[in-house]
Amino acid sequence: MLSSSKHVDKRPESALMHRSLIEQPHEVLSASGSYLHLASGTSILDGCGGAAVAIIGHGNQEVISATLAQMQKVSYVHTLSYITSSAEDLASHILSVPPGGFQHGLEKAYFCGSGSEANDVAMKLARQYHFENGEPQRKWYVSRKQAYHGNSIGSMSVSSYLARKVPYEDGILLDKVSFVSPAYAYQYQCSDETEEQYVDRLIKELDDEFQRLGPENVISFIAEPVVGATSGCVPAPKGYFPGIRTLCSKYGILLHLDEIMCGMGRTGTYFAFEQENIAPDIVTIGKGLGGGYAPIAGVLMNKKVVDGLRRGSKAFNHGQTYQAHPVTCATALAVQRVVRREGLVERCGLIGMSLETLLRDAFGGCRFVGDIRGRGLFWGIEFVKNKVTKETFDPALHFGYNVQQNAFKLGLAVYPGAATVDGVRGDHVIIAPPYNISVLDLKKIVTLLKEAYLQEESKID
Ligand code: PLP
Repeated sequence: MLSSSKHVDKRPESALMHRSLIEQPHEVLSASGSYLHLASGTSILDGCGGAAVAIIGHGNQEVISATLAQMQKVSYVHTLSYITSSAEDLASHILSVPPGGFQHGLEKAYFCGSGSEANDVAMKLARQYHFENGEPQRKWYVSRKQAYHGNSIGSMSVSSYLARKVPYEDGILLDKVSFVSPAYAYQYQCSDETEEQYVDRLIKELDDEFQRLGPENVISFIAEPVVGATSGCVPAPKGYFPGIRTLCSKYGILLHLDEIMCGMGRTGTYFAFEQENIAPDIVTIGKGLGGGYAPIAGVLMNKKVVDGLRRGSKAFNHGQTYQAHPVTCATALAVQRVVRREGLVERCGLIGMSLETLLRDAFGGCRFVGDIRGRGLFWGIEFVKNKVTKETFDPALHFGYNVQQNAFKLGLAVYPGAATVDGVRGDHVIIAPPYNISVLDLKKIVTLLKEAYLQEESKID
């Protein structure tokens, strides 16, 4: 991603490796609720919670106290021999289904430090499952062209973040990865095609790809239920995920859903896949899991996967020094308890509807706004040069990025988009505020973003 708020700082280059060697990010002195307070004296309304991370806002005292208490109790154990109740309790909390809740069938959780790691772990888990269950020939991962799954060699191999992949394309990234079309109706559904026909076409393409590889050679299919960073909060068309689920089950291919950005309540249900009415075999979570208070991500797996290991080596052939870290687990548990007690997932769904109305009212008629889409408190605005033909702006113009920059100058943080599907389409900004943002601040986001957009619009003839 682009840094959320580039600016040129005249200070000498710092010892810290920033994303850019020539531009230093803004220093944040403190943060509270939905606001960041900068060293420059300015306060920024955090309309994207960093990268859709800060789900309960900043400075929550309950989370701070729980973190401190865990540090005082046990700060670290190695999971080869020990475990703490904070990690056990977090796993139970995440996997428990509240009365009347969606039966996801997920049985165990593994915790690590970042989304990229979680996806690597999930990829290894899926491979081990097949390897130990009589199908060692399964070596292929299938992903989508509209995908971002992380920055490690494994997770980047299954991503389509084209610009970032360039130095590693030739022999560095995994080579047994194949990509199918994204489920991205705004840009790729043909004008003479119904939604159902579009879905059928996508499912057929995936089936054809499985056949080309030999379905018996495929480990897993990896997808985000609502695509975040690469295209801007794009939900799949109705019927797509049920079709995918059926196809994967038919061939014994594991369905791995990446909910690192869209999960943990962000879309108005605890898991985004609940709205597709399907259950995956493996889910990766991150970002909102620790709400920014702790670097933590996770891999959740269903009974089928765990049973596979039980039948096989009776172990997960993986281990990390900071796996199920007592403090990050305690912190994440505190965040999740706040979310559950305050009904923030439900609130996310409810005020998400208000946000949708506000966005459609403010941007619906705008000259360069092609699409407004999302779920819950996860919304993307896609910019195009021509709303009728959907012709995109020249990427060198950085339209969406400039809107984000204008917004920052007005005191609002939104998440900038990177056009990655084909290097052009998907010029957008993302709005993903904390679930407990006030309605007043929600309105302020839309007002400031509109002003930021109009500044950019006025530059185009
Ligand atoms: N998967 C998705 C869908 C993401 O959006 C991201 C990060 O933006 C990742 C994986 C990688 O997570 P991390 O940056 O924590 O490694």
